[in-house]
Amino acid sequence: NSILSTVLPAPEDPILSVIFGCRDDPSPVKLNLGLGSYRTEEGKPFVLDVVRRAEQQLAKDLSKNKDYPPLTGLPDFNKLSAKLILGDDSLALQENRVVTVQCLSGTGSLRVGAEFLANNNKERTVFLPIPTWGNHLGIFSFGDLSVKHFRYYDRKSRGLDFKGLLEDLGTTPPGAIVVLQACGHNPTGVDPTFEQWEHIRQIVRSKGLLPFFDCAYQGFASGNLDSDAQAVRMFLADGGECLIAQSYAKNMGLYSERIGALNIVCESEDVARKVESQVILIVRSMYLCPPIHGASIVTTILKNSDMYNDWTIELKGMADRIISMRQQLYEAIQARGTPGDWSHIIKHIGMFTFTGLNEEQVRLMANEYHIYMTYDGRISMASLSSNTVPQLADAIHAVVT
Ligand code: PLP
Repeated sequence: NSILSTVLPAPEDPILSVIFGCRDDPSPVKLNLGLGSYRTEEGKPFVLDVVRRAEQQLAKDLSKNKDYPPLTGLPDFNKLSAKLILGDDSLALQENRVVTVQCLSGTGSLRVGAEFLANNNKERTVFLPIPTWGNHLGIFSFGDLSVKHFRYYDRKSRGLDFKGLLEDLGTTPPGAIVVLQACGHNPTGVDPTFEQWEHIRQIVRSKGLLPFFDCAYQGFASGNLDSDAQAVRMFLADGGECLIAQSYAKNMGLYSERIGALNIVCESEDVARKVESQVILIVRSMYLCPPIHGASIVTTILKNSDMYNDWTIELKGMADRIISMRQQLYEAIQARGTPGDWSHIIKHIGMFTFTGLNEEQVRLMANEYHIYMTYDGRISMASLSSNTVPQLADAIHAVVT
């Protein structure tokens, strides 16, 4: 008479199977390129110095208590986060038509946004790029939302399928939601150029679609916070509506603090107040109000111009290390005379690259060379170091020749 004994096991998570495979491999030279968090040249997790300093400052502040924060989070955090993504001179902010809610990192922001859309958007179809971050499907697959897809990645060129993307967006119903990654597309590493973004903006607006930006990598892709926000800001400049999920996991290294924000840009202050009241309903029934430690760290850094400046330097340091790994890997593959065009490795941007290796080659990399990546051939450039680049280049050379 057990009720729970009929529960079926969840399908295997492809990322977890990579992690378990690596964990169970006794080889001293094993290399895990499946991870989604930054590693130093020494292969260690990285806590930013400016984050340590902010935490020390917070620990000394005895005026802080453990009372419930507002349901929408710390007001200063929300204001500064909105400014970070929308820009200092954002008209939408000046006109008080942006709703910003502190959420549990990028994932929580996407989920609260999805719940809001499921409850309030008339057209319930959500379009996701093919491929996209694996969790998008789960985040948007509930209630009455129906998930569809649009072409994004071109296997042949290992770049953007721009024609396919425009064709597919051109056949979407008005009011549908389109999920776009603001920069550093996961898993492909392929971003549209700004000229292509402008075409995407035009089609999104002319079809009356609602763009939902997933911005998990601001500053982490190019090393510059404003450049990585440019695509989003193009959609703000036309005065139209959009949603933006922000995360401080990567750009401040605050993975475990679960700190991010959902921004909903509305057409007027009046609409924004109604939207905010609906978001508060969702937040209240899910978790009442957010935790504040991560938000306090972020606020301390964004508020203080010296700390902010130090953050941008550390952030650029992480982005530059990733960019230099791309260059080193490309050169190492070239030096081995490996067949094929590998220039996509330096053309791609952000944490991830689609190597172009197929599933069979990925399994060979794991079984023969102790190098682990997701079965779609995605590697995290942030898990590589100058020491491990030759090992990866040797293995790639061996599996493709
Ligand atoms: N969106 C994308 C595209 C991601 O790659 C990730 C993390 O890998 C996230 C969102 C969510 O990250 P978090 O919830 O840790 O902020």
